[in-house]
Amino acid sequence: MSGYLRSVPQAALSIDLESYWHAELLRRRVDRSKADDRVLPATLPLLDLLLERKVRATFFIVGEIIDEYPALVRRIAAEGHEIGCHGYTHRPLWDLDEATFNAELSLFRAALRRHVPNITPVGFRAPTFSLSPDTVWALAVLARHGYRYDSSVFPIRTPLYGVAGCPAAPYRPAANMVDEDPAAPIWEWPMTAWRIGPLTIPVCGGFYLRVLPMPLILRGLHAAVERGPIVIYLHPWELDTETPRLPLSLRDRFITYHNIGKPMWRRLKILLDQFDFKPMAEVLANKIGASSSQVFAPLDAMDEW
Ligand SMILES: [Zn+2]
Repeated sequence: MSGYLRSVPQAALSIDLESYWHAELLRRRVDRSKADDRVLPATLPLLDLLLERKVRATFFIVGEIIDEYPALVRRIAAEGHEIGCHGYTHRPLWDLDEATFNAELSLFRAALRRHVPNITPVGFRAPTFSLSPDTVWALAVLARHGYRYDSSVFPIRTPLYGVAGCPAAPYRPAANMVDEDPAAPIWEWPMTAWRIGPLTIPVCGGFYLRVLPMPLILRGLHAAVERGPIVIYLHPWELDTETPRLPLSLRDRFITYHNIGKPMWRRLKILLDQFDFKPMAEVLANKIGASSSQVFAPLDAMDEW
């Protein structure tokens, strides 16, 4: 780790705070009235670890969780983490349109106002990385609500999501999500990938952090950080050894459960040893060349909306 990387924030840690049943492969399979959502046992040990390591992160929170666990969200804010929006119900953008997405953002903001009134979110992550050229209308809706950046683009095309060929570092996206447009309403910070020749390897967290060999992930992250800020994501349910195992197909079981619990804890701790993580808004403001308070001063655009 160079002194430069220690002094300039270049790495961000993001936590998508949701229940295990919000995951796309599970959300229609769980009877919520009967199941324990395990949000607290999955999240509290993570907050303890971040406190112990003096690491502040960005928590993209599902709005339902704010209404269900206001004390948890107040603790997250009190410990200096950034609070961003992960929708209100965790429905992906491809299930929404401008009106229903607008309603999701309003519900999220109302939940924050009820329980953590001094927080104005500036960052958004779409459930299931569902931002693509088909759903790019969402960026203008976000801008109208006062959001300053989005982090919802996955750098390879997968069966569910992703935009092949997008830039590696934060950019102002054109409608095709690949080219840059200085007039774009907000910044896009795509998930971090290691680009070697024709290959793009997502080394950004979640399933990929659980499944790829750790030496490859670290090599990729150290290569990527030379070119621009990197961002890691994970879910508290991926750290929870007690996350309920539902009967899924072999493929979906692998995607959802492989290496959750202790192996994921070990990998997170290795990442915390290697990088000086900061909240995304702070890293992005540094890249843009202004203080985060200048670039990310709360807008309160929704009052006029
Ligand atoms: Zn999510």
